[in-house]
Order: sequence, then C-alpha cells, then structure tokens
Amino acid sequence: MLIKNVTDFLEGRYPLSLQESYDNCGLTYGHKEQKLSGILFALDVTENIVKEAISKDCNLIISHHPVVFKGLKKINGATMTERVLELSIKNNIALYAIHTNLDNHKNGVNKRIADKIGLSEFKILSPKNDTLVKLCVFVPKAAEPALSAALFNSGAGAVGNYSECNFKSKGIGSFKPNLSAKPSLGEINKKTETTEVKTEYLVPLAQLSMVLNAMRENHPYEEVAYDVIPLLNTQQDMGSGMIGVLQEPMTTQSFLKHLKTTFNVGVIKHTALIHDKVKTVAICGGSGSFLIDAACRNKADIFITSDIKYHEFFDANNEIIIADIGHWESEQFTVNLLYENIKEKFSKFALHLTEENTNPVKYF
Ligand SMILES: [Zn+2]
Repeated sequence: MLIKNVTDFLEGRYPLSLQESYDNCGLTYGHKEQKLSGILFALDVTENIVKEAISKDCNLIISHHPVVFKGLKKINGATMTERVLELSIKNNIALYAIHTNLDNHKNGVNKRIADKIGLSEFKILSPKNDTLVKLCVFVPKAAEPALSAALFNSGAGAVGNYSECNFKSKGIGSFKPNLSAKPSLGEINKKTETTEVKTEYLVPLAQLSMVLNAMRENHPYEEVAYDVIPLLNTQQDMGSGMIGVLQEPMTTQSFLKHLKTTFNVGVIKHTALIHDKVKTVAICGGSGSFLIDAACRNKADIFITSDIKYHEFFDANNEIIIADIGHWESEQFTVNLLYENIKEKFSKFALHLTEENTNPVKYF
C-alpha cells in the first residue's frame, strides 16, 4: 500500500478545500508514492510520537494538528517543530495532518464530541459560506438522463438529506458549426435548432472539478454550453462548531460532572451557572471563542470549547454558560475517529493509536 492510497481516501472524505485559510493540512513530509509499513495516529506530533512510530514500524504519522504552521527558515533543532522534522526526515517517517478540514466536516471532530456527550438533532453551528455553486448545463433531451446520472454520481445535486436533486426546463438551442467543428448534431456552416434541456444542480466547490470532468465525458456535444454560478447560500452541513440537544434536560451541575468524566478534564473553567438545567448544547473542539456569538444566537444553554481568554469569558453576557474543558481534552477522540475511518477502508493494514498523551497542559 502507498501513502497516496490513504491520503486520497481521506481527502475524498474530508476535502482539503474545507480547511481554513491559515491552516496547513495535507502531507507535510514524505512522498505520495512511498510504500507504507504502518500508520500511527496522534493528535499532535512530538519527538516522542515520532520515536513511537519508529518503534512500531510505522512510516506514516497521521495527526490532527499540523507540525508546521508557518514558514521555517532554519532546521537546526532550536524548536520542537524543527526537531520533529529532523527526526522524521532522518528516519523517513511521513507526516500527514488533517486539521480544520476535519473540524469543518459534519462527520468530523465535533460530531465525535456530540456523540460522546450524547447529543441528538445536531446541526452545524456556523455553516460555511462561499462553498457552493450552481451548475447549469444545456443538453439534447435524449442525452439528459445519462448526463444527469453521471453528474449525480460525481457529487452534484445533493441538498441536505436529499440526493439526485436538479431542475429541468425545456427550450430550443441553436448553433452553427464552423469548418473545423466535428458536430454530433447538425451540419457544417448550417444553423441548427434542436430541443434541449437546461438542467440545474447545486455543487459543492470541493466537488466542482470532478463534476465538470463527468459533464465533459458524458455530454454528446463537442462544445458543452454550461454556466458555473457562485452562490451566497450557506452549506448547511459544513462549517464550524455544532449544536444539538440532550434527550432529557440535565441539571447544570450533573452535566458538568458528565463532561468532566467523559473528557477526563482536570478543571472546567466556566462562567456563572445562569441556568439550573441545560438542554441545548453548542460545542467546538479546540479553540472556539470565535463561535461564542453563534452559540448565543442559536440559543444554546451552554457552549463547550477551549482556549477561552479572560476577556472572552465576559462575552457570555448572562445569556449562555461558557465551559472551557481544555484543548487536548476536547479533541482527544479525534484520533479514534481517524483510526476508525482508515480501519473501515483498509481493515487488514497495520494501524496503531498512539499510547502517548501529548497534552502539554497539566493540572496541579
Ligand atoms: Zn486543536
């Protein structure tokens, strides 16, 4: 098995285009054609994690957090990032990060947290903008069913819980092929009119190139007439954070105890417990202060996240309870999620969950 078998599979499920602009997901070190001996899954890549990979005969580490976030000018062992890279390069251990593309996916980091807490009816807290386009294709009537099937198959026409959605309208298409054309319909230098169907599909930007390839391969015309139109619609099932409800409301005290046990939290930092009971719960694995407003707007009773700064706690504004459970704690189950994804596809391959706890924060 090659590295690219794994990375292509992951990127098919969690497209790199879902990552935030500041992020650095993908293959940090290594070659896609490299043969794999085994995979180690970890939240962070530290020197100990690289050593663990070596000892377990794994030449690929899949981590949630990228090792390299910003430009490096030297690799001389002065920082942990430099030492990790040096050790990985010397031992030919490939490094792959799947970070905000996993955070922003409906079946990613936050879905796993929601499952652990026991939430249902969840939806994305802050859906992504600018990630959808509309594709309009003009096709002769007889060729429409085959074209639609190919487009659906390549990712067009999915809306929430519905697939194979499109809109069709009939009209007359006209064209005049020139001397160099090889028309499938009509004659050279003669204007032709024919009945065509205009078909419209919603397409996620991440799937657009695949959809356009499928369109060209399955359309009878030499020159396909089509429009790709950017949309202002939000993509409801992709974006930051999640919100859901507990099946039965819990007293705030017992809910916090439940959080503490489930995530094995040293200390929960929280704002005033302004509600006696909680039912609607917003979550964001990792640093989630940018979602406090969204959690309030969506009427969450409590917002569970991490890395809340002192002044940001004031943004609870007596509307919501903010609970900071710690960064590592909130994202610790991400490695299981990645492991299970790969296990499902490559069941016989050597896969290892790290035995290291990489959390740099300790509680006294
Ligand atoms: Zn994180």
